Amino acid sequence: EFNEKIIDGKAFAEGLRARIAVQAAAFEAKAGRKAGLAVVLVGEDPASQVYVASKAKQTVECGMESFEHKLPADTTQETLLALIDRLNADDAVDGILVQLPLPKHLDEQTVVERISPDKDVDGLTPISTGRLALGLPGLVPCTPLGSLMLLKDRLGNLSGKDAVVIGRSILVGKPMVQLLLGENCTVTVAHSRTQNLADVVRRADIVVAAVGRPEMIKGEWIKPGATVIDVGINRLPPEEGKKKGRIVGDVDYQSAIQVAGAITPVPGGVGPMTIGVLLRNALVAAHRNAGVELAD
Ligand code: NDP
Repeated sequence: EFNEKIIDGKAFAEGLRARIAVQAAAFEAKAGRKAGLAVVLVGEDPASQVYVASKAKQTVECGMESFEHKLPADTTQETLLALIDRLNADDAVDGILVQLPLPKHLDEQTVVERISPDKDVDGLTPISTGRLALGLPGLVPCTPLGSLMLLKDRLGNLSGKDAVVIGRSILVGKPMVQLLLGENCTVTVAHSRTQNLADVVRRADIVVAAVGRPEMIKGEWIKPGATVIDVGINRLPPEEGKKKGRIVGDVDYQSAIQVAGAITPVPGGVGPMTIGVLLRNALVAAHRNAGVELAD
């Protein structure tokens, strides 16, 4: 059902991928090769398998080359690091993504740090994180960058707006704070120790929820007219007679949409943006790595 308050991330992501396909073709014509994205999956986590399959599919659909590396769950740290070294050295590979979480016996920090910053399409290496903090060009984590794209598309200039980010993870919350600061928002970061969260949320023109708690943020916490970006992906316990529970966000959508000026649904909001931005990051990396200019 159409409601102008709904921010349609699925439609936006489709448009983004269409633009990427055009740019990927232009890259191939100039560079004499396709842009390439390598995805590394260790083990058999079902959700990770689904993500990796859809990343690979969309990479190919956008006219880029996909390199999939599936390693058994008992892969050693040395074997994984050696693979990353090979991918770092491979000129056909512009971006390297290691699907997280890794099996417990592997050290995620060490593995991520091994990825060349030039190929760090997830934006999680210390160099990429540092560049973002310094306001230097670099690769930015996909989910927060996708969230920012949706915000700018809906609101235009964000300068001077009061933004609250709920969550401070390396993957979402912290880079989101940096991006909003970069747009000259006044940014508040809330987390599990924040007191009076409802009051903190209530003053925000922009609310970004990245908590991982189903429907925690209520409509009555939202300032009337505020823009709400719900990053959360939570599966509820199954209802009677159903195998799987519903997927919901961190925001109580039904109450929030009554008050908010605009809101992303779950699913169909931020979720579909993540892979689109990943492909965008891979293409940006390809242009830099090949010394070809990216025409926007
Ligand atoms: P993390 O678990 O790493 O971080 C959660 C953050 O929420 C922490 O900073 C934590 O605070 C904070 N928090 C926890 N409980 C509360 C509370 N009661 N009140 C206020 N803050 C709280 O999660 P991620 O950042 O990785 O992911 C957040 C959500 O986004 C998840 O639902 C995840 O599934 C989803 N997600 C979606 C993606 C997509 O759309 N493609 C991609 C990545 C994530 P503290 O630091 O104090 O512990």
